[in-house]
Amino acid sequence: MTVRVRIAPSPTGDPHVGTAYIGLINYAFAKKNGGKFVLRIEDTDQTRCTPESAKAIYDSLKWLGLCYDEGPMHDGMGGGDRGPYIQSERVKAGIYQKFADKLLEQGDAYYCFCTARDLDAMRKRQQANNEPIMYNRRCRGGSLAEARERAAKGEAFVIRMKTPLEGEFVYKDRLRKQPTVKGWKEIDDQVLLKSDGWPTYHLAAVVDDHLMGITHVIRAEEWLNSLPKHIWLNEHLGFTAPEYVHVGLLRNADKSKISKRKNPTSLLWYQKQGYLPEALLNFLALLGHSHPDGQEKFTLAEMCSFFDLDRINVAGPVFDMAKLRHLQGQYFRDLSPERMKAEVYRAIDSKFDALLPLVKERMVFGGDFVWQSEPFYADSVTLHAEDLLPKGLDKTQAKHLLEETQQAFKRYVAGDGAVWDAPSLEAFVRKFIEDRTAPGALPDATPEVQSEAALWSPKSLFMLLRVAATGKRESPPLFDTLAQIGQAKVIERLGLAQQKLR
Ligand code: GLU
Repeated sequence: MTVRVRIAPSPTGDPHVGTAYIGLINYAFAKKNGGKFVLRIEDTDQTRCTPESAKAIYDSLKWLGLCYDEGPMHDGMGGGDRGPYIQSERVKAGIYQKFADKLLEQGDAYYCFCTARDLDAMRKRQQANNEPIMYNRRCRGGSLAEARERAAKGEAFVIRMKTPLEGEFVYKDRLRKQPTVKGWKEIDDQVLLKSDGWPTYHLAAVVDDHLMGITHVIRAEEWLNSLPKHIWLNEHLGFTAPEYVHVGLLRNADKSKISKRKNPTSLLWYQKQGYLPEALLNFLALLGHSHPDGQEKFTLAEMCSFFDLDRINVAGPVFDMAKLRHLQGQYFRDLSPERMKAEVYRAIDSKFDALLPLVKERMVFGGDFVWQSEPFYADSVTLHAEDLLPKGLDKTQAKHLLEETQQAFKRYVAGDGAVWDAPSLEAFVRKFIEDRTAPGALPDATPEVQSEAALWSPKSLFMLLRVAATGKRESPPLFDTLAQIGQAKVIERLGLAQQKLR
């Protein structure tokens, strides 16, 4: 048997670091076993999927060196004789309908004519009665001939699978000590074909894994709940099921599923920040696996040679940015001078056009760009407490202003449609000062209140923000500067400045 594995991302938004993680495991398993690594694009949710996002997946896999053997043709990757590898193209080729028909003929699936309104009412009743939310199987008993007639007359329908009503589903995943056990009655009569005729993920994935000759489906454990449906579909469609293996989800430090709010999840972000693909891959490899000799740094090719699926760690590996940064440093310092130079130039270039108009006023020679633009490139800036005390402010007052403004920025960026550019920031900060000092904004004029109002002078606040953000008392125009430094770094630096004033 030739090993054939796949990843099957849905092209919505930016390519996800989880796709790289699952991709790496599948790639290594394929290479270790002399097999094939397939990419399939699962874009049956046409409201959310975009071709740009699919292209970003191809490019990111290429960047990481996880080149696929079969899949959509792109930049020297892909091709293969089991295509098309994009599900929307497979829908258009009529691939899924006949499998749904087969299940209907066998009596293993049925037409459901319940409307969105019916389903909504059903859900509300179930919620009110504290019952599990699932389809109540109202259409399940109908005759196929009658249902076909209704459908032919133009009534809207979906096709659902006839999930067993009793018994247990049991599956032993090779990575898990305990088998997965689920009562069938808890499992919904899953929609297989939607009212627009498009398949759902479940039908499409099972059919495609079969037609593409996939031998092992290695994916994240969030799909474990779907496994009963997938095994059932394989059985009832007469397929030999691939082996299903579920690896641990990447986690935030608090053990929740990795999320944008707590960790960067977009591969484009890592690329833009200057992470080296080798370092990111090595880091991902260590999350699920380990070198047999405990070595921390190894190449993709090395990983492919020692990879052992049975040694994958499923215990929800924590995505530790500090560790990634450490590895990145190691890889970076080991670069050849040529590549290092290329990385340095690339980093400078990534901001050069935006920064030059800001810093050129102070430049006399080309080299001046380097130190003039330092606060924009640096990870952090050096702050001196005495610079953080504009005329007339003491430590407590300066700290108070920084803290309030930092909180205001946090609220601003969390708001809908907040734009982090110079004009918007200027308008926001001026309005913020105005609101703080407007008559009536503060309680009656006690001496403290009067001094609070006086505290919020644009002049001293602007100086304070400038020093906190850049470490210097002079900089290009403040709001352009804040805009270019970026929201995350500005907010972080306002926090560090407060600590300096302790
Ligand atoms: N399209 C699914 C996803 O976006 C694939 C799940 C699977 O691997 O079966 O992750």
